[in-house]
Amino acid sequence: MTKKIALISGDGIGPEVTKQGMKVLEKLEEISDVDLEFEEFPFGAEHYLDTGELVTDEAKEELENFDAIYLGAVGDPRVKPGVLEHGILLDLRFSFDQYINLRPVKLLDSRFSPLKDKEPQDIDMMIVRENTEGLYAGVGGFLKEGTKDEVATQEMINTYKGVERVTRYAYEYAQKRNDEKKLTLCDKSNVLTYAHDLWQRVFEEVGANYKDVTMDHMLVDAITMKMVRNPEDFDTIVTCNMFGDIITDLGAEIQGGMGLAVSGNINPEGVSMFEPVHGSAPDIAGENIANPLAAILAAGMMVKELGWEEEGEKIETAVQRSLQNDYSTPDMGGNLNTDEVGDHICSILE
Ligand code: ATP
Ligand code: MG
Repeated sequence: MTKKIALISGDGIGPEVTKQGMKVLEKLEEISDVDLEFEEFPFGAEHYLDTGELVTDEAKEELENFDAIYLGAVGDPRVKPGVLEHGILLDLRFSFDQYINLRPVKLLDSRFSPLKDKEPQDIDMMIVRENTEGLYAGVGGFLKEGTKDEVATQEMINTYKGVERVTRYAYEYAQKRNDEKKLTLCDKSNVLTYAHDLWQRVFEEVGANYKDVTMDHMLVDAITMKMVRNPEDFDTIVTCNMFGDIITDLGAEIQGGMGLAVSGNINPEGVSMFEPVHGSAPDIAGENIANPLAAILAAGMMVKELGWEEEGEKIETAVQRSLQNDYSTPDMGGNLNTDEVGDHICSILE
């Protein structure tokens, strides 16, 4: 069945890298059952500067009819920092209640990890980050603001509903991901005695329905150490918004850096959004030198999440092959330009 994709290529290198992702998706459609239909949306700096619009309500209504959003990057030096990120990225994330941030950590080629003794099979995990609440809920305030007695508070909001839904998703994920079927809860329950007590209780409660999944628990500080020393011990990790933010960046680095990091903002019942983790990189925009591999991998992740598992896997394998052969952009040690990398991935798929 045809799946409808909304393309928001955005700013800076966004359009350059999503163009390669689109090329790869079109090639995949030629050689497999994958069947996609695209519509482009103009949101980004240019559109904002022209019209004063970020994402309109009408556009959001229209986006409801799509199966997924494929996003490049937003951010532009001509616009005040945060305006586009809040008005586009975060607005879409909240409007479509994308309560899961799915971040694969997978080493494709050992040369790209700063962990020198690790092989690709050692670094292969999925981080499931809660994406809507926790310390990022924006609740708090200042007492006696501007005085020497000032107190600033930031509340950590954890609802049963919010914790339950991300935990359930993580168990489902761990169950399907591989034969290991292991889920690690990453928290700080020894200090956050209310918030993460709830996480622990929910983890146990939901886990009772997934008897075949091995439950594991580790404090976030221990996790950061272990991700560096023994990343092979992890399979699927579920965690709150803030710890997820931090350990996914650590994960991105051990698997080869931002040039290969991808992110899915998921609503399992609604519209999900897939993007490379890197930003709009205005410093290199328009030069055809941006690394398109993260955007291409994000397209692969989207295809997988839309139900074409094997086909999405093919994209990943093609990216891996091109890296192994040094068919990459200068930031990955190669000497191809953006377009050539996209073409090369297509030729491997062919
Ligand atoms: P944002 O606020 O949008 O996250 P940022 O300022 O954090 O942006 P990024 O755009 O993520 O920065 O990237 C930081 C730098 O890394 C860029 O300026 C660029 O030099 C480099 N970079 C980022 N993405 C790529 C890419 N795909 N290919 C090559 N270099 C990149
Ligand atoms: Mg950034």
